[in-house]
Amino acid sequence: MRNRYRPGRLLAGTIATMLALGLAGCGTGEPSLPDNAAQADPPRPVGMQDPAVIPTGPAAASGSCNPRASLRPSGALPPPGQMPSGTAMARIAQRGRLVVGVDQNSYNFGFRDPLTGQLTGFDIDIARQVARGIFGDPGRIQFRAISSADRIKVVQDGTVDMVVRTMTMNCERWEQVSFSTEYFTAGQRILVTRGSAAKTIQDLHGKKVCAAAGSTSIRKIAEEGTVPVSVVNWTDCLVLLQQNQVVAVSTDDSILAGLAAQDPNTVVVGPRFSDEPYGVAISKESPELVRFVNGVLAKIRSDGTWGRLYGRWLTSLGPAPSPPVARYRD
Ligand code: GLU
Repeated sequence: MRNRYRPGRLLAGTIATMLALGLAGCGTGEPSLPDNAAQADPPRPVGMQDPAVIPTGPAAASGSCNPRASLRPSGALPPPGQMPSGTAMARIAQRGRLVVGVDQNSYNFGFRDPLTGQLTGFDIDIARQVARGIFGDPGRIQFRAISSADRIKVVQDGTVDMVVRTMTMNCERWEQVSFSTEYFTAGQRILVTRGSAAKTIQDLHGKKVCAAAGSTSIRKIAEEGTVPVSVVNWTDCLVLLQQNQVVAVSTDDSILAGLAAQDPNTVVVGPRFSDEPYGVAISKESPELVRFVNGVLAKIRSDGTWGRLYGRWLTSLGPAPSPPVARYRD
């Protein structure tokens, strides 16, 4: 029953979110938009005043590092309840819970089960595995629902111990946070209304396309010559598509599959046109926590847990592949 999908309930939740956003938007200043960006009205895309919406700068070109390579685990994992003193893991153990930034709007990755009200999904379960590693109990965890645009900030300011939220590892982000090894591989595609003539990103040139502020997706659609429309949450994009305010939504195929499941009148089309390896984001000040998480990920790759979690959440994406290979930079 837990996984049973309730489209009406999810969409009702989305609309509630949109209303909340509209109200929240009243208190903010008038956002300034990049030249090629459009506002949806209503609801108003938010966050365009934030440079994180469509990041620019040298790091956008990214041959400068291997974004998939992380820190090697230091030996065997310490047993749960026995974290080495002076480490981030010991501080988390002392606090009594792991604090993790997650999504609450991406069906199958991080979303609220409408029956229980609990956050649930693949990313949520990956986070629970880390809690299990520290405490021996996957329930010793506190989730903070965050937007795409807030992911780096909450890691840097210590609001959370880590972010597990469909987050692409890239060289620009590596300058601001550290990542675990890759735990999932996605790629950007497009979602359109059934019957739409648009099949590829090239077909969307000059047209309004929705993506979340602060995502790799919105940068990519701007580069591809669409008119990017930004929102806070991926489900907000689905509403804009349903209202014909945009002609497509574009982001990771993993997220689009969840949107398509919520609206059978939409369909994911065209090939992947980017590579989006997901990693757990952790403060650069806690390399020992990165190594610990990589130890946990190594364990769940090899003991079958990763495959079980894939089977629980992601079979709509196809049969379970092998887990992404761990790559290390030292
Ligand atoms: N994986 C992309 C990113 O990290 C898009 C997904 C998202 O923003 O949630 O920016």
